[in-house]
Amino acid sequence: MLLWIFLVGFAAANEEFSSQQNSTRHAQYRGSQVLRVRNATESIRNLLKSLEGEKAIEIWKQSNVFGKFTDILVPSFTLSFVRQQFENLNATFRVMIADVESAMHEQIAIAPRKQSKNKNKNKKSRSYNLTFQRYHRISDIYGYLDYLVSTFPSICSIETIGTTIQGRQIKVIKISGSNAKFSFYIEGGIHAREWVSPASVAYIVRELVEYRSKNSFAENADYYVSPVANPDGYEFTHTNTRLWRKNRRDSDKSCPGVDLNRNYGYQWGGLGASRQSCDETFAGGNSFSEPESQAVRDFLTKIGPSVQAYVAFHSYGQYILYPFGYDKVLAPDSADLQKLGAKIAKNIRKSSKKKYKVGNSAILLYEASGGADDWAKGGVGIKYTYTIELRDAGRFGFLLPASQIEATGKEAFIAIKTITQEIAGIKRKKKSRF
Ligand SMILES: [Zn+2]
Repeated sequence: MLLWIFLVGFAAANEEFSSQQNSTRHAQYRGSQVLRVRNATESIRNLLKSLEGEKAIEIWKQSNVFGKFTDILVPSFTLSFVRQQFENLNATFRVMIADVESAMHEQIAIAPRKQSKNKNKNKKSRSYNLTFQRYHRISDIYGYLDYLVSTFPSICSIETIGTTIQGRQIKVIKISGSNAKFSFYIEGGIHAREWVSPASVAYIVRELVEYRSKNSFAENADYYVSPVANPDGYEFTHTNTRLWRKNRRDSDKSCPGVDLNRNYGYQWGGLGASRQSCDETFAGGNSFSEPESQAVRDFLTKIGPSVQAYVAFHSYGQYILYPFGYDKVLAPDSADLQKLGAKIAKNIRKSSKKKYKVGNSAILLYEASGGADDWAKGGVGIKYTYTIELRDAGRFGFLLPASQIEATGKEAFIAIKTITQEIAGIKRKKKSRF
């Protein structure tokens, strides 16, 4: 009853809230907080579900495992009510972000540039705007890819693999190896608000191209890299709603967007995917209903069986996850995936001291059907398929400051390097399986 009375008031406030959205942007998050709630009992889990269903909270990071934590965004006008509900259930929670608006402003601050050993290179006039000191719009990311193709034409080429609902191009840069034994598909930015993903994927591209001489392992593969798999959503997070996740399908005007990472055609529409267009995990009307997921499907089908590795970068949480996600089901070769995942985590830890957990996504976190990774593994048969949740462990969540882009990109690059070395049989005494 209390919840119902509250929500009638909340609905009215929410309408007003939406109408102000465009003009106020980050101000809409003034006083909003991110809380980390311990998922201790069934009643706490049910409360979270009902609060989410009523839009009184948004889930940032879910865990279905008892004893683990769920991170939620609580708008300022539901905050005291939500906190009271947790206190009533004796739920353990703590404040991760005390004011979301301030964290958003901090995130867009430009990080100081580190002293470079190679000063001449930095002074050279450049024909692109991309840096790793701040988060950039898609035009800057694509501008960098264009620069690479014109500067390194013998190894780089670009293919536009599709067009989004709003007419933006979905681009893939191919970086060819002189001794390529296999192909490697790398994807970033399928979830719009996970800004460090496209930034880290761009960092990987820079390492593979501009710093190629110190990364000779890269000669063993042809890399196909798509830094922004959801261009409309990504741009929308810059121009309108910072925490937008889905694409911009607008067939339901009041609840636009399909979660592209629930739209792929392997075990589509099962656990952890919604049929309700208003939900953050809306799977779409049917599998591959979206031009963005169709583009990846058609492209991967075209380049075919040479692809032996597929990594999708997301944030946040610091996890190295492998299929399947649609249920707690392991592929027959999951021990290989666990082993290589552990090696990636070890290499990252050696380099940056950051801890990444390794495991099957459904078991470690939650079930999610229709994911790109499940399709890559189960639909295409790509052996080394991973979803990597980059930084951080929750302090800033999606609002990771720009000062952490380079360090996060480096961790992402270590993953790519470790996988390539494994498949190519580099530095391995025992006989390669390929
Ligand atoms: Zn994601």
